[in-house]
Amino acid sequence: MTKQIYNFCAGPAMLPQDVMQIAQKEFVNWKDMGCSVMEVSHRGKDYVALAHEAEQDLRDLMNISDEYAVLFMHGGGRGQFASVPMNLLPENGEADYVLTGSWSKSALTEGRKFGQINVAADMHVENGMRSILPQSEWKLSDKAAYVHYCPNETVDGVEFDFIPETDKPLVADMSSCILSQEIDVSKFGIIYAGAQKNIGPSGLAIAIVRKDLMGNARSGTPSIFDYALQNQNDSMFNTPPTYAWYLAGLVFKWLKKQGGISAIQAINAAKAEMLYNFIDNSDFYHNQVVSRYRSKMNVPFMLKDESLNAVFLSEAEKVGLLALKGHRSVGGMRASIYNAMPLSGVEVLVKFMQSFEKAHA
Ligand SMILES: *Cc1c(COP(=O)(O)O)cnc(C)c1O
Repeated sequence: MTKQIYNFCAGPAMLPQDVMQIAQKEFVNWKDMGCSVMEVSHRGKDYVALAHEAEQDLRDLMNISDEYAVLFMHGGGRGQFASVPMNLLPENGEADYVLTGSWSKSALTEGRKFGQINVAADMHVENGMRSILPQSEWKLSDKAAYVHYCPNETVDGVEFDFIPETDKPLVADMSSCILSQEIDVSKFGIIYAGAQKNIGPSGLAIAIVRKDLMGNARSGTPSIFDYALQNQNDSMFNTPPTYAWYLAGLVFKWLKKQGGISAIQAINAAKAEMLYNFIDNSDFYHNQVVSRYRSKMNVPFMLKDESLNAVFLSEAEKVGLLALKGHRSVGGMRASIYNAMPLSGVEVLVKFMQSFEKAHA
């Protein structure tokens, strides 16, 4: 038995143990074919069946209607930062971006390569706490081709508790919150996510695109980033990231087995509540996000005495709690507690934080 490890990495993040075990078992011999799923043609009937099943499982989990295409794309989350404007923003067009943290800011920077991007709302701080500007104070443009936002800011630990209201296509970067809670897909024009937080291995991105928004990609859009073309080709215009797609499919099956999104949402809420409650009741640790907007996936926290950061991290690692170092732009610690993190992982973390506090307060 290897010792129990809990990996709090923000991404690539841990995958469910059960999924990794299935993958291991099938690694060199998939479906008794005598070879790995990554060694077979993506056009063969077995792989095509796997690909369709993964798409259907995702549709079931998120309740995605036929009005939407579900695309398995290359290039991760940042690939979509470019794909969205290439497909949706006309030459000389405008779009509105809502800034709430470092990922929406990166999306803005990429978007600006393609046209006029307005900052509809800038990052917002209230009494030293990270927050979200109320929508009533946003400056949305009538001319915007779409409104882009990031429902969960992985680095900053800021999460929307509402879906923005707009009559324009709403585009959401759900890289770090997709499948973590129930959402009404029909409110969105495009939902996209890099896979390595809640879906599977890095490199893959899922794009859920309302079909009427496809077919107007700018000339010059690389074929592999053209939503309409990818949709016509069942996401196989070229060779897709087949192994990542396979693993994503296993994760979707695992989620169904857990009882679907509503069941995992309840566990996610319990995990986040346990951790934030502990932090709020301690004078030793603190979190710097307005409570209403605290992320249930990424929990940044600081030690009051920052000179203890290095000791905290090395002692955590000794007891099997990995990758708790905060992002360099925020500092302190960050516990990423995606779907694959069991409640027991958060319990062990809280116990460790308690005993570290006792030893060092
Ligand atoms: C991780 C992440 C990305 C970037 O994903 P890559 O696959 O590395 O390009 C984008 N947006 C959010 C919200 C993320 O968490």
